[in-house]
Amino acid sequence: MHSFHQDIVDDDYVDVSRDVELVRPGPDTKTATTTCKQLGSTAVHDGHLIYVSSYIDSISAILRPISLKIHDNPELKFEEFIAHDTLTKFLKTRQGWKVTPSAYGMATAFVAEFDSGRKGPVISYNVEYDALTEIGHSCGHNLIAICSVAAALAAASTMTKFSVPGKVILFGTPGEEGGGGKIKLLDAGAYSEHAVDINLISHPGNVPDSALVRTNAYASFRVEYFGREAHAAASPWEGINALDGLITAYNALSVLRQQTMPGDIIQGHITDGGSTPNIIHAYAAGVFVVRATNKKRLKMLREKVGNCFEAGAQASGAELKITPGMAYDDHVPNKILGGVCRTAFNALGGEIPTADLDLIWGASQASTDQGNISYAMPSLSLGFKIESEVGPHNPGFAKAARTRAAHDAALKAGKALAVTGLEILSSRDLLKAAREEFEDMLKGQDE
Ligand SMILES: [Zn+2]
Ligand SMILES: [Zn+2]
Repeated sequence: MHSFHQDIVDDDYVDVSRDVELVRPGPDTKTATTTCKQLGSTAVHDGHLIYVSSYIDSISAILRPISLKIHDNPELKFEEFIAHDTLTKFLKTRQGWKVTPSAYGMATAFVAEFDSGRKGPVISYNVEYDALTEIGHSCGHNLIAICSVAAALAAASTMTKFSVPGKVILFGTPGEEGGGGKIKLLDAGAYSEHAVDINLISHPGNVPDSALVRTNAYASFRVEYFGREAHAAASPWEGINALDGLITAYNALSVLRQQTMPGDIIQGHITDGGSTPNIIHAYAAGVFVVRATNKKRLKMLREKVGNCFEAGAQASGAELKITPGMAYDDHVPNKILGGVCRTAFNALGGEIPTADLDLIWGASQASTDQGNISYAMPSLSLGFKIESEVGPHNPGFAKAARTRAAHDAALKAGKALAVTGLEILSSRDLLKAAREEFEDMLKGQDE
């Protein structure tokens, strides 16, 4: 078996930023910092795009074994040690990058920072690398990892080449699959300490490419009913049936489902349903998840769902206890960032439709902790299509995430994300517009 680990530990990576000089970047490069090409509604610097594209092509062969190493060693949330070590060791070999492994109290989180030395905005990329129980990298996070790494390295190299001011930060964000690693980093002040202006990420799928991926808000919680045992035949009136409380609530939820809005989802399972038929059930419990298209709507739905659980308690006389579990906010894509990303992606041969259509196609019922990021700063998650008959969280998708074609698709997404970041670094007006859109979105939440 090829030992990629050995490669990454022992080998010096070639500094490809020098090699890129050899690539003919095209005739526009010299004037690239001053000329913009209008593509659709948003301009991107041609020179940046050409340079980024050449640069990422030149490191593709280095990123491929990193992607495969992560893929072939699937690790669950917060145990992504191989992925963490592989990525941080690689980043340490890159000129100008300051790498902090095991950052912010999480063994498998990291921060890598590139400072151009010129004061300017701070762009950031999130790197995911966790897998799923038993079905490995069926969410394709190995592709997300190399996409973000490619984008950040390309942005940094372009900054040096074209004297673009500002900083690039790469955040290694573990535990996306139910662990909320990004929420932990937000809470620990990782993004605010670095004064991050925007955050970018991508996700593979088997649906059309989209610059405006939206995801659902979700909240999980454990529900418990506490009753009292009694002989179920001889003296049932002395008991309080906790299971009846839970079943009443379950049925009330089924009734509620008739009056929910499109996008509202209520799911649950019973973990404890009593011990034996001849004892009145003193304890019953379950885990429930509610989802809605946005945070505000989720709050309303949770109230209604809470009433159903209260109804179970009222009907049975059992005592109710609800313990909140993990919750992710919906992802609100920043349309200003999306416009730039769409232009760059389509200039690279992509076919993301116009913003209105993109917003419709970009809607997903799934949830991600990138959602919480989108309530902290302007955020974008570029959805890129890979060839797969099945979607994420399916073993077939893990196979698809290992192919050469998927690798190329991830790097194309990386190119678009690099250019998006560079546009923000190059234009104060663009950053201001993204920021204003973000502030307006937050205000809308209070209304
Ligand atoms: Zn997933
Ligand atoms: Zn995922």
